[in-house]
Amino acid sequence: MSAKLLEGGSIADAIKAEVKETIAQMPQEQRPQLVAVMVGDNPGARAYAKMQRKSCDEVGIVYELKEFDESISEADLIAAVDELNEDGAVDGIILQMPVPEHINARTVQAAIASVKDVDGVNPANLGAVVMGQVEGAPCTAQAVVRLVQETGIDLYGTEVVVVGHSEIVGKPVALLLLDKFATTTVCHIGTSDAGLLEQHTTGADILIVAVGVPGLIKGSMIKSGATVIDVGINRVKDEEGKRKIVGDVEFDSAVEVAGTITPVPGGVGPVTTAMLLKSTLYACQSHR
Ligand code: NAD
Repeated sequence: MSAKLLEGGSIADAIKAEVKETIAQMPQEQRPQLVAVMVGDNPGARAYAKMQRKSCDEVGIVYELKEFDESISEADLIAAVDELNEDGAVDGIILQMPVPEHINARTVQAAIASVKDVDGVNPANLGAVVMGQVEGAPCTAQAVVRLVQETGIDLYGTEVVVVGHSEIVGKPVALLLLDKFATTTVCHIGTSDAGLLEQHTTGADILIVAVGVPGLIKGSMIKSGATVIDVGINRVKDEEGKRKIVGDVEFDSAVEVAGTITPVPGGVGPVTTAMLLKSTLYACQSHR
């Protein structure tokens, strides 16, 4: 058996088209504005910012990258975030990761006004996720939920297993699917260390993996016909030493067992980017 590919590109395009259409109907001066805060000069963060700008341009969101020297103190960075919170023209604020070691990212993220927190990392927005509110949730969690919905599966009573319990993916995904009456199990490093990971994953109708370990989930750990959403992004070298990106699921063995599977790259990633645009529009509509 070879699983059906659940590709993110067309879903992302549909989300972007919706966002673009709504923005096109707004007066020019009321177009949503997203500000990305970057501290220091990290190549990964810069590449991500470039991609954000391109996506924002595509749909008509005004994008600004605010750069700060890596020596900036946490207090001064929070003061800068406060200014953006007060600026009525700014709808969304996102803190680019990573930040230098002397800055506590969580403290700065918590300083972003909840209505402008388009990345869904402010405790207030994570709290709203407990109540089933998907709009303010972290973009990757929203993307996973959207991908699951695209399969058309009725979640009521399904066995969902989430591997990884981060604040931006595993925990919010588990809560949002729990809210749809799926029976949700969350696994993590403790599950693996107890030798129980496979016992859980093989029971999953829907398996969501967000760990950061290339090929952690093999085909033998997947229930026949299951839906597999691979969130992992891992940069590895192939046999010829060429760099490539792989997920947390061993694709070649998984595709033989699963019913539906997301590819990496091209699965969760593009939908996450589209969700950032959707969240920025939502923030604009909510706070103005
Ligand atoms: P994280 O790095 O904060 O946490 C990792 C999680 O995996 C923890 O819950 C940990 O307990 C668990 N874990 C680690 N080793 C394990 C093992 N051997 N067995 C079981 N569980 C194990 O997680 P994160 O920030 O959610 O990132 C996870 C992955 O998702 C990374 O590869 C990251 O790059 C990727 N990611 C992708 C997107 C996207 O848009 N596609 C967005 C965010 C993160």
